[in-house]
Amino acid sequence: MIIVAASQNKHKIMEMEAITKQFGMEIVGRDDFGVPKVEIVEDGVTFEENSLKKAEGVMKLCGKITIADDSGIVVDALDGAPGVYSARFSGEECDDNKNNQKLLEMLEDVPMEKRTARYVAVITMAFPDGRVLVARGECEGHILLEESGQNGFGYDPLFRPVGYPVSFGEIPPEEKNKISHRAKALIELQKQLEKLGKIE
Ligand code: IMP
Repeated sequence: MIIVAASQNKHKIMEMEAITKQFGMEIVGRDDFGVPKVEIVEDGVTFEENSLKKAEGVMKLCGKITIADDSGIVVDALDGAPGVYSARFSGEECDDNKNNQKLLEMLEDVPMEKRTARYVAVITMAFPDGRVLVARGECEGHILLEESGQNGFGYDPLFRPVGYPVSFGEIPPEEKNKISHRAKALIELQKQLEKLGKIE
């Protein structure tokens, strides 16, 4: 079963492909599928709203079953920030490095035990007949005092998942893909698909 991924983030697509391969799903990024480059504005205030907007928006553009991931990092000491604004945390000219530096600065005086955080991913699957499935996954951890490791993307060099001595930047991708927010959401989605039976 081929499913179009609404994302243009190659890291997310790679992870989604690796995780869903075990379910026999084939994920193709919207650019590789040739979906017109129409921007879908992520102006929702929840992961659920943005995920639905992206899934339905791209499904309408390509007419195929579409999957969207809206995700981010929720930091307790910052009252849940950056949350849905994770990608754009450091403003217009943002990139992963600037986002990570801003997070470190905002947590400068916060001790390790209060640096609790979680990654959240909401995956929405939109069908051309109007049906929608929604699955949420979370991964608990801490924000480290400095970046470590080159694996993953985004906040991974700063995020140490509970039960591990090192950051997602140092954990091999196969391991991240077993325990991540994205993996949990996709496993939950797969359970919903199994309940539905054949979907094509
Ligand atoms: P979105 O495209 O609005 O869903 O933005 C998601 C943002 O959240 C990314 O750009 C990253 O900053 C962050 N994020 C989500 N998932 C991960 C992850 O698995 N690792 C690192 N950063 C992530």
